[in-house]
Amino acid sequence: MRRSFADAFGASVTYLANHFAWFGTSKHYDTLTQTFRHTPVGDFNAHHYRYAPGRSTFIVETDEATFARAGFARMEDAESRSLCQKIFADALGGHPLISNNSIWRRFPQVWNSRWHHGKYVLIGDALHTAHFSIGSGTRLAMEDAIALDRTLAEHGDDVASALPAFEAARRPIVEKLVTGANASAAWYERFAEHMALAPAEFAMSYITRSGRIDIERLRKLSPRFVARYERERG
Ligand SMILES: Cc1cc2nc3c(=O)[nH]c(=O)nc-3n(C[C@H](O)[C@H](O)[C@H](O)COP(=O)(O)OP(=O)(O)OC[C@H]3O[C@@H](n4cnc5c(N)ncnc54)[C@H](O)[C@@H]3O)c2cc1C
Repeated sequence: MRRSFADAFGASVTYLANHFAWFGTSKHYDTLTQTFRHTPVGDFNAHHYRYAPGRSTFIVETDEATFARAGFARMEDAESRSLCQKIFADALGGHPLISNNSIWRRFPQVWNSRWHHGKYVLIGDALHTAHFSIGSGTRLAMEDAIALDRTLAEHGDDVASALPAFEAARRPIVEKLVTGANASAAWYERFAEHMALAPAEFAMSYITRSGRIDIERLRKLSPRFVARYERERG
């Protein structure tokens, strides 16, 4: 639908430079964890978090040059999975990576300057993607659907007034989150540079990457961490 009316929607799809592969694993993680690794071919990071008992998501990410040097583009699925398993052996603690069409991709940043065209309206990832590092894409898509359903119920059959009302109500909320997601994505695009920072500075750079939390708010939430950060920074 978006492609059919791309001009009317003001649709844009831009791809981030980093490559990622989305695996599962039988390893259980207590919390969302990020693992960053230097290797002889370049730097990698993994986003891992549980989604069911005994099952976690394990997303492996690397920059374009490392992706090329490692030769992932020429590898079969099993070879690529086994190399990722080797790179993150300590984080996986002997558990395997599980493949589910885990092809290497680049993340598409989707945006539309107009949300509706005639009787057509976009919601969810078709309307806006939010980088997986903030983990909110599904929530946004569900909330879009709920908001659209409510607006249509309020406007009865009057689709021509319902769709602009839906956009007016939802746009500020979505824009705020997508702006944060894009800032987070930009941080990951340069994650190898951030890895050169001292540990506390690296952690601070990570926590504040989306611009949605600043040091004063963090001081209230994690006073010991901020005290350590300020002590180490001098
Ligand atoms: C690596 C990764 C990790 C993520 N982790 C999280 C997370 O932890 N938490 C979170 O909230 N979000 C996460 N997301 C984002 C989340 O997956 C999406 O935001 C969410 O799935 C969007 O839902 P959707 O229904 O809009 O689109 P989709 O889930 O993409 O659903 C669209 C469906 O439409 C189908 N379709 C497409 N074209 C047609 C057609 N012409 N006819 C019929 N059917 C069609 C597709 O096959 C698909 O099933 C992640 C994304 C990625 C890439």
